[in-house]
Amino acid sequence: MVFYKTEEEIELIRQSALILSKAHGEIARLVKEGISTAALDKRAEEFIRDNGGVPSFKNYNGFPYSLCISVNQTVVHGMPSSYILNDGDIISVDCGVYYKNFHSDCAYTHPVGNVSEEVSQLLTVTKESLYKGISKAVVGYRLGDISYEIQQHAEKHGYGVVRELVGHGIGRSLHESPEVPNYGRRGQGLKLQNGLVLAIEPMINLGTRHIVQEDDGWTINTSDNKPSAHFEHTVVIRKDAAEILTTFDYIEQAKK
Ligand code: MG
Ligand code: MG
Repeated sequence: MVFYKTEEEIELIRQSALILSKAHGEIARLVKEGISTAALDKRAEEFIRDNGGVPSFKNYNGFPYSLCISVNQTVVHGMPSSYILNDGDIISVDCGVYYKNFHSDCAYTHPVGNVSEEVSQLLTVTKESLYKGISKAVVGYRLGDISYEIQQHAEKHGYGVVRELVGHGIGRSLHESPEVPNYGRRGQGLKLQNGLVLAIEPMINLGTRHIVQEDDGWTINTSDNKPSAHFEHTVVIRKDAAEILTTFDYIEQAKK
């Protein structure tokens, strides 16, 4: 079942998304060579709770952390650990906030120090593909229009578009209908209506699109061990242009 949100409900998601976006800014300040991914997770949980929210991912289907931290060849669902960030790594930080009964969801892939030109381009194009998808998150288009834009932009650069994992509706539950694939056909799928809230999240691989699940039951890696990038926003379908509820502004300010 697809839930279209009222303006009152969207306002609560907007508040949740603001806490989340600020938490991302806080983490962005700390992402550098020499810090453990567990330390980032600890700070994110403190920040979210200090601001009246609850980390959406913690205890979700038994996931024990507030962040999914996916380094280099890890696509998504990586677990925070004693791993220390190295110069040249890329690190996807995925986080959700639950606030006043509503979830928001946002991910950003950071370079650590100096990354290769090839990997830097992967980050740029993956972020662009997110915004290309969002450009179709507008009343009158269909879900497939979002999917198509993302796929076309990534594949134009020769990248692999992950198919097994998808974006999603979001609201009272972290994952609601509909699924939002990062590949698809124009003009296909659900017709987009005002008030539908989606988490759009391209997962784009430098090499093959194929993935493998590791033995921990969570971590998803690329099958060729080449790097993967992931960016995500929570958006509302509107007339003329989507309303993007999460923002990367706090992250980008923190990096200056
Ligand atoms: Mg997410
Ligand atoms: Mg998500």
